[in-house]
Amino acid sequence: MSAQSMDQLVSLCKRRGFIFQSADIYGGMKGLYDYGPMGIELKDNIKKAWWSSMIYERDDIEGLEASLISHSIIWKYSGHEETFSDPLVDCKDCKSRMRQDKMADQTKCDKCGSTNITEPRDFNLLFPLNVGPVVDDGSKAYLRAETAQGSYLNFKNVLDSTSRKLPFGIAQVGKSFRNEIMARNFIFRTREFEQMEMQYFIKPGENDKYFKEWKETRYQWWLDQGIKEENIKWHKHDENELIFYANQASDIEYRFPHGFDELEGVHDRTDYDLGSHTKNQADFDIQAKVKVNTHSNTKLNYLDQVTNESYIPFVVETAAGLGRAMIAIMNEAYEEEDLGDGKTRTVMKFKKHLAPIKVAIIPLKKNNEKIMEKCSEIKKSLLKLGIGRVSLENTGNIGKAYRRQDEVGTPICITVDFETLEETPASVTIRDRDTMEQHRVNVADLETYVRNFFL
Ligand code: ATP
Repeated sequence: MSAQSMDQLVSLCKRRGFIFQSADIYGGMKGLYDYGPMGIELKDNIKKAWWSSMIYERDDIEGLEASLISHSIIWKYSGHEETFSDPLVDCKDCKSRMRQDKMADQTKCDKCGSTNITEPRDFNLLFPLNVGPVVDDGSKAYLRAETAQGSYLNFKNVLDSTSRKLPFGIAQVGKSFRNEIMARNFIFRTREFEQMEMQYFIKPGENDKYFKEWKETRYQWWLDQGIKEENIKWHKHDENELIFYANQASDIEYRFPHGFDELEGVHDRTDYDLGSHTKNQADFDIQAKVKVNTHSNTKLNYLDQVTNESYIPFVVETAAGLGRAMIAIMNEAYEEEDLGDGKTRTVMKFKKHLAPIKVAIIPLKKNNEKIMEKCSEIKKSLLKLGIGRVSLENTGNIGKAYRRQDEVGTPICITVDFETLEETPASVTIRDRDTMEQHRVNVADLETYVRNFFL
C-alpha cells in the first residue's frame, strides 16, 4: 500500500523531519522547501545509489560538478533565453494563474470553470542575477536551469583529461533553478530543485541503440529503488511535445498521489548541444538547427583515432529529479498496518540502502550510566562498518522509540537492557522493522550480524 494522499506524505514529512516549507515561520514561500534531519539522509542515499549506478558500477561515465551561477551566454546559445518558457494564462474572474499546457480544458479556468481567460503569454523560467558590483550586460548571469549545460561545456575538458573514447558519459547531481509559474504538489514542482542528469556522448547514427539501452537501464534503476512496476509507465513524446531538435524522447511517469506524472526523461538530443556551443560550426556537418555561434573559443568535436573521422557527437540524456524521486520512494515505502485491538502503525518500508537511519540503538532505561555506556560502545563499533547513520536514542520509552523509528523507516533497532549488562555472553534484542519480530544476538556477533543484514 502507498499513501492515500499527498497530505498524508506532507504530514509525515513535517512530523518526522523529512521536509519543511521554507521560511515557514514567516508564512512560507511558494515552491521552496528545506530538508530536515531525515530528508537530507534520504536524499543523500538516493544520490549515492544513482551515483554508484552511473559512475562506480560502469566504466564509461565520469562525474562533474559545474557552477550553479552560470554565464548568460550559455543560455543564449542553448536556446533557453528564447524558448525556455511556459504559456501563462490568467482567469479574469477568479484571478487564478495557470500553465495553458497543463489545463484540463484550454478554454476554461481550471479552478472556477470560467471561459473569461486571457490569451497565453510566454513566461521565461530562467532566474537572472547580476555578478559583481556593476550592473550591466557583462555582469548578467543566470542560476542554472539544468545541470546538462555544464556537462556540454566541459565535454572537451573531461575528454582530454580522462583520455576517454566514445561512447562515454558525464554525470552530475546538483541544484537547478526555474521560476516556475505554478509551483505545486509539494516538492513535485519547485523553484529550486536537484537533478540527477547524465549526458552520454555517442557517434551519430548510434542514437537508436543507446536510447533504447538507456531507457531499459533507467527503468530498472527505479525498480531497484523499490518502485513497483504497476506504478511506473513510459510516456513517449508525440510530435507536439518533442522539442524541435530532438529525435525522440520518453518520460518515465510515476503514479504520484496527484496522478501519473514525469519522474525522469530520456532524450535523444542529436548534435544540438555540442553543435550549439562549438567554435567553427561550419567545419562540421551539424544536423540540428543551431544558432550561429560567434563566441565559443573551443571546437567540441571528437576525433576518432582509428578512422580519422572528426564529428560533433550526438547526445542521449537521462534527466531525473531528486525531489520527485523522494516523493515516489516515500510514497512506495509508506504503509499503514493494522496491528489488531484497534491499533495501527505507520511504517516506511524503505529499501535498506535508502533508509535515513540504518540502526537505532535504544537503552531500556533512560540516563542509566552503565546501559548508556554499552549503547555508545555498540554505536562506535557499528559506525566503523560504514553503513550510514547509526542513531542512539536516549528516550527510555521503547514503545515510542519503535514507533518513531518505524515512521522514519529504520530497518533495525537494537535494545540494550539489564540482561545485556548482567549475563555472559552479553546479548541485545534486535527488532526487525518489517516483521516486528524480536530476537537476541550476542554483542560479540553484532558487527557480523549488521554487516550481513546490510550487504
Ligand atoms: P516538467 O514537464 O514536469 O516541467 P521537464 O520536462 O521540464 O519537466 P526536464 O527539463 O526534462 O523536466 O528535467 C528533468 C527532470 O528534472 C524532470 O523529469 C523532473 O524530475 C525534474 N524537474 C524539472 N523541473 C522541476 C521542478 N520545477 N521541480 C522539481 N523537479 C523538476
